[in-house]
Amino acid sequence: MTCVNAPVNRLVNQLDNEHLETPSKVNLLNLDQQAMKAFFAAMGEKAFRASQLLKWLYQQDIDDIDTMTNLGKALRTRLKETCEIVMPEVVYEQPSKDGTVKWLLRLADGNCIETVYIPEGDRGTLCVSSQVGCALKCTFCSTAQQGFNRNLEVHEIISQVRVAVRTLGGGVKDGRAITNVVMMGMGEPLLNFDNVVRSMDLMMDDLAFGLSKRRITLSTAGVVPALDRLREVSDVSLAVSLHATNDELRNQIVPINKKYPIHELLASCRRYIADKPHRKVTFEYVMLEGINDSVDEAKALIKLLEGIPSKVNLIPFNPFPGTDYQTSSREVIDRFQETLINGGLVTIRRKTRGEDIDAACGQLVGKVQDRIRRSERFGVIKQVS
Ligand code: SAH
Repeated sequence: MTCVNAPVNRLVNQLDNEHLETPSKVNLLNLDQQAMKAFFAAMGEKAFRASQLLKWLYQQDIDDIDTMTNLGKALRTRLKETCEIVMPEVVYEQPSKDGTVKWLLRLADGNCIETVYIPEGDRGTLCVSSQVGCALKCTFCSTAQQGFNRNLEVHEIISQVRVAVRTLGGGVKDGRAITNVVMMGMGEPLLNFDNVVRSMDLMMDDLAFGLSKRRITLSTAGVVPALDRLREVSDVSLAVSLHATNDELRNQIVPINKKYPIHELLASCRRYIADKPHRKVTFEYVMLEGINDSVDEAKALIKLLEGIPSKVNLIPFNPFPGTDYQTSSREVIDRFQETLINGGLVTIRRKTRGEDIDAACGQLVGKVQDRIRRSERFGVIKQVS
């Protein structure tokens, strides 16, 4: 599984170099179970301390080390000297009429990321970001327009779940609001591999959020070597942003296809579920008017997915300022869906949610950053709140 975290190495150095005057503190939210155990081992403490601490952080939702009474006073004092528990700042929290909630979180370096909660029936799905911006340049995606800034740390990914749990209540076990997590927010999760895997491990860890592997979905545009690596270290559910049935079109709209064309991507998907009985790959397909939404393309999709246990998720395109794409009409999406269903493919159509709060892909960060840029241009230093 994953290797020991850099913060642990830092801590070990810190313990060795006590002459350092202001060593940086370890954010405890950066450590998955394995890293937490290594961390306590480096302090000369027993491994069960890791379980205790994880439970305080994720089951009890405690940020104050003094409250963690079963750790003992001396250990708490040492922890306070070397560690911190720091969450991003909630800049904006916006419930939508349909129950969708969107958070804009500001990280310590001033960058902003989005997290969205989407309730539906007895499910509550949290859409989590993995990077600030994205490097993949998919032409229909508003995050792509911001370019790539940096990978998120484990604490920045797992804090998104903590913020949501805190707001929505219900804890992480019975009666919880969050039943599913999808790595479908900003960024390409497979390009932040180690931190995303560790964060998903925390989401699944019974000492932390305890979600089942089937209820965590990683969505990728198709970074094939990383997808093959994922198979070795994790068995979360897989969603693939396919969006086209031939390389010519996919090269244009999902440019990473030039590096990893459709047949290589589908072969990797087959490998991913080969040893996972009863699991399916979800193929996402954004409906772009006049681009990829013909009946012939639906038929091509049926052929392409033959022999792969699949589910297709049709996503009406969410427009954003400056885009030339348009959403396919309801009739066209209906016909596309019907063709797939008649061809034997389980096909669902994603409802557009949270439109009144710009919950659609990357929209809020765009607006807030525009506002910040405008204020700077006009010399008005004003915090968005
Ligand atoms: N990089 C990953 C995860 C983030 S995008 C991926 O590509 O899968 C999550 C999903 O939203 C992807 O299927 C993506 O193609 C889709 N998406 C992005 N922009 C969209 C838009 N404007 N309208 C509809 N779906 C969009």
